[in-house]
Amino acid sequence: MEYDDIIVGAGSAGAALAARLSEDSDRNVLLLEAGPDYSAVAQTPADLLTTWVSAGPHDWGLVAQATPTREIPYPRGKVTGGGSAVNGHIALRGTPGDFDEWAALGNREWSFEKVLPFHRKLEDDRDARGDFHGVGGPIWIERPRPENWQPLNRAFFDAARAAGFAEVWDHNDPESTGIGPWPRNRRDGVRISTAIGYLAPARHRMNLTIRSGVNAHRVILEKGRAVGVELECAGATQQVRGRRVTLSAGAIASPALLMRSGIGARDELAALGIKCQVNLPGVGRNLIDHPMVFVVATPLAGIPHDPQVTNPIGIRYTAAGSDEFNDMQMYVFELFDESVSPGLQLGLPVPSVALVPGLQRPRSRGQLRLRSSNPDVPPIIELNYLADPEDMRRMADGVRLAWRLMHDGPFAATLKDFVNLTADIVNSKPALETFVRDNCTTIFHPVGTAKMGPENDPMAVVDQYCRVRGVEGLR
Ligand SMILES: Cc1cc2nc3c(=O)[nH]c(=O)nc-3n(C[C@H](O)[C@H](O)[C@H](O)COP(=O)(O)OP(=O)(O)OC[C@H]3O[C@@H](n4cnc5c(N)ncnc54)[C@H](O)[C@@H]3O)c2cc1C
Repeated sequence: MEYDDIIVGAGSAGAALAARLSEDSDRNVLLLEAGPDYSAVAQTPADLLTTWVSAGPHDWGLVAQATPTREIPYPRGKVTGGGSAVNGHIALRGTPGDFDEWAALGNREWSFEKVLPFHRKLEDDRDARGDFHGVGGPIWIERPRPENWQPLNRAFFDAARAAGFAEVWDHNDPESTGIGPWPRNRRDGVRISTAIGYLAPARHRMNLTIRSGVNAHRVILEKGRAVGVELECAGATQQVRGRRVTLSAGAIASPALLMRSGIGARDELAALGIKCQVNLPGVGRNLIDHPMVFVVATPLAGIPHDPQVTNPIGIRYTAAGSDEFNDMQMYVFELFDESVSPGLQLGLPVPSVALVPGLQRPRSRGQLRLRSSNPDVPPIIELNYLADPEDMRRMADGVRLAWRLMHDGPFAATLKDFVNLTADIVNSKPALETFVRDNCTTIFHPVGTAKMGPENDPMAVVDQYCRVRGVEGLR
């Protein structure tokens, strides 16, 4: 049988795409997912529903080089819903400037004005109304109500307000900057993944086939055209054929799949014994991720805290001396019960409370390379955090800000001891930079490894319609 569309990876992108494409009953869609599939909320395990973040049973177990000398765990969801089924479910949009920058780089379909209708269409925002918001879409979005914030959240909020940050009710308003509740895709305590929001209502369709436990190995190319996928299911290698193939296996697995299919930098493929079908040097390059650093303290004994509540509010702000709007975020993580983050390996004491600055507009670029042509061997992930001095400057400044906020009246009154930072470190530029380098970790947001761009960009892998350059029928 030949499908109209084969989609590899049922994550944030793939599940939504499969649901949307199969709205046309004349189109036969096959959705392939390496992880398991749970067809209803009632059958879905708790780590996918009620946790804050899960890197437990539904994770690929990858590791990455954060800096040339430090390795970190690198969680990636392995289940229908992908990252959206395990993630922190903060439903924040990029700034309008992000999208307009993509358009200015030659991808005019991606300006903020062009993507706004789709932001609106995907959401069912229960709080915010107006031109920037949508109702009735598949992803339920709400903000934690102030009456449900915990005393530690309130203390953080008061310290940030005292430090001059504006109060924000809707972090997704394009102009908002300051402290307030994160918009979250969570309904009645349950994370609304794309498996729940998009796939569940589409499962009855006869023209949509969802196959889980299927590990795609490579795209089959014939005469310059993608004609199917070679995959492994229950130990058997098989092929499926389709008129169009879309790789939505995420920023780590999609470029790896391209390379195993012979699409990538010619020399690199040759070194692995892979025949080059299309020489695209940008595959796996331009890896961008957001780093964060935990500033950790223990709370005073007796501070009441609902252990299920963590990170309900945060700050979106522009770093001092930066001209990039909202290039930083500050999270508050309270860890009173490790079951809220299965498998995350944060190494924090319980209970603890951390302020966590995170860089949202990093200038450093990393890369992803294949270690082997064997699909079971994980790729080399080099994040190259903080390689650009401006990234280090903003992160060090973020740590200083966290330290100040934790020493401000309202917040200081809730904290007992600092766990990993001292005044001596904060007051010494070299010591603080070493601290940032030794403690930076991922906010789990890799992107960019199949760069979009116009024909005159030699590192572009796809055009603005996501079509892979030099191959027909592959997105
Ligand atoms: C722990 C964690 C916390 C995060 N927190 C947030 C947050 O709070 N807010 C936010 O906006 N973002 C967050 N993110 C990031 C967000 O989840 C990702 O950016 C997003 O899910 C990426 O979507 P995607 O469709 O590109 O890839 P994914 O959602 O990762 O989907 C890729 C899918 O492809 C499957 N796959 C991979 N290889 C193969 C193969 N060879 N064959 C078949 N299937 C394959 C995977 O199993 C996966 O299901 C977080 C991510 C993680 C991991």
